[in-house]
Amino acid sequence: MKIYNTMSKKKEEFVPLEEGKVKMYVCGPTVYNLIHIGNARPMIVFDTVRRYFEYKGYDVNFVSNFTDVDDKIIKKANEEGVSADEISKRYIAECKKDMEGMNIEPATKNPLATEEIGGMIEMIKTLIDKGYAYEKNGTVYYRTRKFKDYGKLSHKNLDDLQSGGRTLLVTGEDEKEDPLDFVLWKPKKEGEPAWQSPWSEGRPGWHIECSEMSKKYLGEQIDIHAGGEDLIFPHHENEIAQSEAANGKEFAKYWMHNGFLNIDNRKMSKSLGNFFTVREISEKYDLQVLRFFMLSAHYRSPLNFSAELMEAAKSGLERIVTAAENLKFLLGNAGTDSLTEEEKENLEKAAAFTGSFEKAMEDDFNTADAIAAVFDLVKFINTTAGSDSSKGYLNALYAQMKKLTDVLGIIIERKEEILDADIEALIEERQAARKAKDFATADRIRDELLEKGIILEDTREGVKWKRA
Ligand SMILES: [Zn+2]
Repeated sequence: MKIYNTMSKKKEEFVPLEEGKVKMYVCGPTVYNLIHIGNARPMIVFDTVRRYFEYKGYDVNFVSNFTDVDDKIIKKANEEGVSADEISKRYIAECKKDMEGMNIEPATKNPLATEEIGGMIEMIKTLIDKGYAYEKNGTVYYRTRKFKDYGKLSHKNLDDLQSGGRTLLVTGEDEKEDPLDFVLWKPKKEGEPAWQSPWSEGRPGWHIECSEMSKKYLGEQIDIHAGGEDLIFPHHENEIAQSEAANGKEFAKYWMHNGFLNIDNRKMSKSLGNFFTVREISEKYDLQVLRFFMLSAHYRSPLNFSAELMEAAKSGLERIVTAAENLKFLLGNAGTDSLTEEEKENLEKAAAFTGSFEKAMEDDFNTADAIAAVFDLVKFINTTAGSDSSKGYLNALYAQMKKLTDVLGIIIERKEEILDADIEALIEERQAARKAKDFATADRIRDELLEKGIILEDTREGVKWKRA
């Protein structure tokens, strides 16, 4: 399996640190608002990477944090007159809802920065002891020039950074020994959440969070560290400087970064009015469509989001789901289990589509080509499966289709549509059961409706219902 490593700028053969295991860390969002579709891209891309490793039989330890202490969170809390904790908890819950809609597998662990402060303080202490950090008036800085490999990931050299950095010097930063030094710990301002430390009552810098959480949940060395390409510099560069200086080991073997997402060929921004949250997209499309759209391009390429491309993704996905649905329908009526000679030959031919799917995924997770292989399988299904096909044949094709779409995180079972009249009839039946004190039946009907996405609410005016 080949992975493009941002560090070497080359595709490299994947060799795990520990046989059969993958330790993977993906930088998660700062939770001060609903996530936008730019946040969704790394979530979908790296979930698919994880799913492919799992398909190949690897045991994947997948850690992705939530940054729940940050200037933006504090600002939002002040605007609403609530605590920072309330804001971050609310948006973590909302983010998880969106992730579920996009069929993102829950991480092995989602550490929260605020619950890991003790470990961060320990790491900062180690960096001070080793001479990589120093304290000035309650702030702790990282001594960037002391780390000889600084710039190795972003391929920047220190002197270029220095000349650019000088102009960036802002008030209060002149206490640094060098403009390139960055913050590990900062004292609190009035009204900010803060923790005790040997240097001041304050909070950690953003970069140290990931270094500590990655170490705590995955160990000092990991296989893959991933995120959006906007994180390469300075975030990931700083993580490397911190982790490698503190632990004395290479931090991550492979660095993976997804490309930018543009909207109608322009950078997404609130000021341009082309900013979309995942929630907004979910009002118009099933989030499966968003997922399918994101995977239709290679993860390292810039991706352009437009209404036309979303419509194309929607109809592409529909073709796949329809083929699966058709197989299910044929299965319901199929007679014999045993395959004919011709069917056996056909299954051998169909295996080639799994072959090209895997070949595409092995080549730095080329999901665009992998999807093309799924479409080839769909075409094959549509031309070879019919009312005279055996159960064995139809089952084998369905299983093959499900296996491949599972890797992409695409759900092929269509959600059952239920008509308003049927809902009303079931509600009436439930009311009758309740009147007769047959609560078992009443509960069963409630659960049955819930499974179909119908939520019942018992109010004083009677039973109300809504679609989830
Ligand atoms: Zn990070």
